[in-house]
Amino acid sequence: MGRALIIGAGGVAGVAAHKCCQNSDVFSEIMIASRTKSRCDALKAQLDGGKTKVETAQVDADNVSELVSLINSYKPDIVINLALPYQDLTIMDACLACGVHYLDTANYEPPETARFEYKWQWDYRERFEKKGICALLGCGFDPGVTGVFSAFAQKHYFDEISTIDILDANAGDHGYPFATNFNPEINIREVSAPGSYYENGRFIETPPMAIKKVYDFPQIGKRDIYLLHHEEMESLALNIKGVKRIRFFMTFSEQYLTHLRVLQNVGMTSIEPIDYEGMKIVPLQFLKAVLPDPASLGPRTKGKTNIGCIFTGTKDGKEVHYYVYNVCDHEQCYKEVGSQAVSYTTGVPAMIGAKLIMTGKWGRPGVYNVEEFDPDPFMEELNKNGLPYHETFDPALVD
Ligand code: NDP
Repeated sequence: MGRALIIGAGGVAGVAAHKCCQNSDVFSEIMIASRTKSRCDALKAQLDGGKTKVETAQVDADNVSELVSLINSYKPDIVINLALPYQDLTIMDACLACGVHYLDTANYEPPETARFEYKWQWDYRERFEKKGICALLGCGFDPGVTGVFSAFAQKHYFDEISTIDILDANAGDHGYPFATNFNPEINIREVSAPGSYYENGRFIETPPMAIKKVYDFPQIGKRDIYLLHHEEMESLALNIKGVKRIRFFMTFSEQYLTHLRVLQNVGMTSIEPIDYEGMKIVPLQFLKAVLPDPASLGPRTKGKTNIGCIFTGTKDGKEVHYYVYNVCDHEQCYKEVGSQAVSYTTGVPAMIGAKLIMTGKWGRPGVYNVEEFDPDPFMEELNKNGLPYHETFDPALVD
């Protein structure tokens, strides 16, 4: 029925491509285009033989004119950006030039400043509206499904949501002393930045990893969780009317944090370029080069992830507590698509968002976050595509 261009060929892109092929009634053709074409070809080799026709191409997604020629020659219905947040704006520019819908899973971040916020991408609203095309931002799991969960809670269970706690647990074990489950550079920039939460109309900043709590996760057990700044808080604060507090917590093991502290103390997580034997190198980029590639963690990772949201608020004058979450098993993901659960939980929602736009169930001209659309078709697709959700109205709350 339609044609999608996937940009990037890493862990997340691999899952999205597999999932597009599993939904070949919608994705009759896909192209995987990335900086290193051999990675696209390796992915194509895994996918060939199914109903979806798979093509590959080399593209530098930092270069708008290269992107424009590729999009104009392939003529996709949508561009699914699964490269890095640094490429969001160039890919949006190319989609605008070609009149093609856009989707990503992480908001723009300038390479030289570890600061991610939606402003840069929301500034494209009028241009996308005028062009009659849709940009769907942050359509992974968090951001992504967490926004869908929020819209679902709002639609079905609450008159007013007062608080949202987003809880992201990864109880996977890859057997390495230290590795990150998605792009190491992006991951380390995220966790070494100051934390923040939203309360009563403003964001309150905290030192990195300063707020620690313990939560007993369904199917995983008790874990240490740390408050982080996370991008969906910015859009949820605007789109969930009346919400008073939003927090985001992620699990980290003592071992991960000890390694991170040492790397920070010796300067290896810095994004300031340094001179090394006549060359400029960015320590964090060098560190990425020596750490295991997240795409290689699949065969080694055991255990589960649990990502979800706890809402408190009122319905018909009564207090309501609601927890909706997904549990995903690393080994099962690997068996199905050759990737671990962190890539899986991001790649599946990216495919679903693209599917809903391509089938006309979601999307209108402009730039949107996922919680601005009807959550019901997305929730149905989660159940059908390997990320079923669980609900409870009696959850333990985070204090
Ligand atoms: P990887 O590092 O595994 O893959 C990134 C891919 O992008 C690689 O194939 C890389 O090419 C390609 N790429 C990088 N720069 C360019 C460029 N200039 N031109 C063309 N291709 C380029 O990352 P992941 O798959 O782990 O993550 C992908 C995205 O998903 C990231 O933006 C990440 O932030 C986001 N994410 C979102 C989550 C969510 O829940 N919302 C959770 C996890 C990740 P090469 O092979 O040459 O390096």
